[in-house]
Amino acid sequence: MMKILAEIKKQCPSTVANTKSCNCSYSGCEKHGLCCQCLSYHRSRRELPACYFPDEVEKTYDRSIRKFIEIMS
Ligand code: SF4
Repeated sequence: MMKILAEIKKQCPSTVANTKSCNCSYSGCEKHGLCCQCLSYHRSRRELPACYFPDEVEKTYDRSIRKFIEIMS
């Protein structure tokens, strides 16, 4: 999977710009800059990507929809 993501990253014209605006603090993730893969991954877990959360919440890694509703209420 990592090899496939690396290949997609090379071909995606938006990866550099996406990475610059990404607030995700989980440095070990290979999906940084690949918003389509990031969204798909978190959606499959009934979550939202890091960029939906302010930095102080993002760094808790609680990306649940419940947390998103909580901070937006
Ligand atoms: S939000 Fe999740 S999938 Fe996206 S870069 Fe961060 S850890 Fe990876």
